[in-house]
This record gives sequence, structure tokens and C-alpha cells, in this order.
Amino acid sequence: MTVRTTRVVCLVRRPDGEPVPDDFALEQRELPPLGAGQLLVRNLYMSVDPSMRGRLESTEKHYTHNFTPGSPLDGRALGVVEESRCASVPPGSFVRHQLGWREHAVLDAAATDGAGRIDPALAPLPTWLGLLGQTGFTAYVGLTRIAGIRPGDTVLVSAGAGAVGSAAGQFARLLGAGRVIGTAGGPDKCALLVKEFGYDAAADYRAEPVREALARLAPDGVDVYFDNVGGEQLVAALHALRPGGRVALCGMMSQFGAERRSADINQLIQAVLKRLTLRGFIVRDHDDLRPEFESRVTGWLRSGEVTARETVVEGLDNAPQALLSLLAGGNVGKMLVRLDTCGVDR
Ligand code: NDP
Repeated sequence: MTVRTTRVVCLVRRPDGEPVPDDFALEQRELPPLGAGQLLVRNLYMSVDPSMRGRLESTEKHYTHNFTPGSPLDGRALGVVEESRCASVPPGSFVRHQLGWREHAVLDAAATDGAGRIDPALAPLPTWLGLLGQTGFTAYVGLTRIAGIRPGDTVLVSAGAGAVGSAAGQFARLLGAGRVIGTAGGPDKCALLVKEFGYDAAADYRAEPVREALARLAPDGVDVYFDNVGGEQLVAALHALRPGGRVALCGMMSQFGAERRSADINQLIQAVLKRLTLRGFIVRDHDDLRPEFESRVTGWLRSGEVTARETVVEGLDNAPQALLSLLAGGNVGKMLVRLDTCGVDR
């Protein structure tokens, strides 16, 4: 193997409250030898995900295993195969996998996805981690299977300028919503919701209680709430939902860390009174929808009906800062880290 070591981002210690840069460190680690059925992959883009916040803790159990102090972080990434001991995934293939937060990775070909399918001519590489990746797929599953979106629905999306949110807002319109309302932090993001992502209206949750904004922007109520943040905005949505309304519980950005957790759960009486359906989901349970999703979204991208937007941070050294920035709302669309691509097309 030509490459024997790689730089990785390690967790130094668990955060005491909000994470800080010193909780992370860059280290050099040896790569294992390439075994049968394995690939050496050079990572080109790494996904920065809110779920990593919960994985930094010792007790909170989120979507997958928690990180261990002294060990490398991991997460979704897209890379190019440099060496292969799997005939069906030759060098030069682009693959997505879970061993991000490092420059090179040795992994089982069977644990990758996208080989032969990820085509930079069809969509730029970052899009394969964003709108055409887990992010867009989460928005699609939440709207179609979980919320059961119907033509004419009024749809509300929180964190509407984020990765999943900006996809959900655009997909909702294309799936027949009559009116799409988003929430975001700050006037600039709210302006983007309307101008770039095609929302009909936007509520700035930092400037005004969302419950008051919804009384103005959706006086007749909403049918579907795609919830990325939980807390106060979920309560506001429970009040705004029409009888029979549906909620896709996707994530709880406002509830990360025990100190942030709110006690608004008693407002769930609204779910009883209005016969609401609230349904949580984990996107990986819905892989059967992937072919339908990829075919529809590549079509929408080709026709220019959806915009893929990313916030790209350069270099592994800046990856911890990218995570901290994401948690503080520093992204529009998908937050990615781009690694040195050494001449590979991107
Ligand atoms: P985003 O790109 O939406 O980034 C997070 C955004 O959350 C920030 O940009 C910020 O936007 C907003 N935010 C941060 N803190 C708060 C707060 N206290 N209150 C309200 N908003 C806040 O991330 P993703 O699109 O990747 O993820 C969105 C959600 O989807 C997350 O909750 C994530 O865990 C979940 N998810 C769930 C999956 C599943 O299978 N169920 C799969 C993938 C993601 P702003 O500036 O507007 O505040």
C-alpha cells in the first residue's frame, strides 16, 4: 500500500457544556494493511452532522455509537478509491462510507455505497453528500412516508435554511404543497428561504416567538410540520396544526445537551385534542425508498427545479470548527469539509 498513515480528527475529552476547539485534536494514525474485499479510499468531502453533538456525550444515545476520548471521530464521507482488493469497485470509483474525519480510510467494499453510481457528470460531488445523499433522502422520507404529504397541504419546516430543511422546503413544493413556510435564525437566512429555496414565507425565531409568527403567516393553520429542532418551535407548531395534522419528527437541534432541554412536553395535549399524528423516524430504516428518491431528485436537479446549496469549509484542520459553526447556525444548506483533492475532479 502506498499510503501507510493518515491524519485523523480525535476526540480529546468530552465537552463540558458546549463543545470547544480544544475538545478535538489532529493526530497521525497508522492504516491497517489492505485485506481481501477492502479498499483504500482518499476522502474528498466529509459530511458535518448535528447528530455528532450527541455522540460527543457519554450518556446520550443518539442515532449510532458514541465517540470515545482518545479515538478518531467518524461520519459520512465521499472519497475516491486509490487501491482495491474488490474486483467490482476498481480504483477511481467514487464511494460514500462512514469513515470520515480522516484523510484516508481502509474499509470493506461491502460497507460503501455509490460505487458506479456516483457520477460527477450527473451532479457535482458535494451534491452526492447533500441533496442526493443522506440529507436529501431524510427530507424525502420525512415528507412522503412519514408525514404523507398531500396536494394542497400547508407545510411548515423548521431549520428551513439548513441541509435537511432547505431540501424539505423545496421538495414539499414539488410534491404538491399549497403553501410552504420555513423558520430560521436571522433575517439573512429568512430572506434566503424565500429567494433561493422557494418558501412562501419565513419566520425568524430569534426575532419573534414562532407561535406569533405562525398566527400571522398561517392564519388557517398547517397540515404538515417537518420538525428539525423540537422545543419551543414544536410547541408552536402543535398550536398551529389543523385537526388531523401530521408531524415528521426528524431531529431536535434545540435539545442537544441536558442544559438546553425544555419542559414543553405538557403541550402534547394539543395532539390529543386535534387527533394529530406525530411520528419519529431514522432515515436508514427506509432504504427501500432510495431508488425512487434518486430518480426523482436527479430529475429535479437536471430540470433546475431544485437548488443544491452547500457551505464548504476547507481542510481537515478546520473540521472541528465546522462542527462548532454548524451547531451555532453558521451554515446554509449542507455543511461539508473539503479535503485536499490532489487533482481529482470535483
Ligand atoms: P442543519 O444544516 O439544519 O444544521 C443545523 C441548524 O439547526 C443550524 O444551521 C441552525 O440553523 C439550527 N439550530 C441550531 N441550534 C438551534 C436551536 N437551538 N433552535 C433552533 N434551531 C437551531 O443540519 P441537518 O440538516 O444536517 O439536520 C437537521 C436535523 O435533522 C437535525 O436535528 C438532525 O439531527 C436531523 N437528522 C435526522 C435524521 C433522521 O434520520 N431522523 C437524519 C439526518 C438529520 P438556524 O441558523 O436557522 O438556527
